[in-house]
Amino acid sequence: MKLIIASNNKHKVYEIKKMLGSKFDEILSLREAGIDHETVEDGRTFMENAIKKAREISEISGCYALADDSGICCDALGGAPGIYSARFSGGTDEDNNALLLEKLADKDDKSAHYTCAMALCSPDGELTLAEGYMYGTITEQRRGERGFGYDPLFIPVSETRTVAEMTDEEKNAISHRGRALELLLKKIG
Ligand code: IMP
Repeated sequence: MKLIIASNNKHKVYEIKKMLGSKFDEILSLREAGIDHETVEDGRTFMENAIKKAREISEISGCYALADDSGICCDALGGAPGIYSARFSGGTDEDNNALLLEKLADKDDKSAHYTCAMALCSPDGELTLAEGYMYGTITEQRRGERGFGYDPLFIPVSETRTVAEMTDEEKNAISHRGRALELLLKKIG
């Protein structure tokens, strides 16, 4: 069975491919599948965006499509940046990190969580949905070189390291993406 990951985010694609292992005959990113399509992410929730991405790519390709919409939510900021995590500052991951540190600088509550909404759409339009979360706190300054996005700022509950200081395997075992994928795979058997 061929699966297309409805994303060109190389970090997400890498993590999902690594976790899926040999569960599908072929797993391709949009670029690898030769699909040049950008879904307009205008949903109000992570799940609305994930469903839209999975549906569009499944329709275009005629294959199974798996979409991940994810982001980080900070309690002291009323859940921001949330679904706007990728475009929080309008710049790079480093710019997003700097803006988050700036917004949290005068806040006592540094608690936050990552959310990942996953949608799998079959060639005949059947949807399977799952969500995963990872809870923790935001650091005072960036630490670590691994992962991507907000990982250098995020310390999971029961950890002293940021996610960017953990190995891929350690991150995948506890991450929002790992948990969502585990649940999704259970649902499809
Ligand atoms: P999306 O591609 O619209 O789902 O945006 C996802 C954004 O959320 C990324 O660009 C990151 O800023 C952030 N994000 C989601 N998952 C992770 C993660 O596992 N680590 C770090 N940042 C993440």
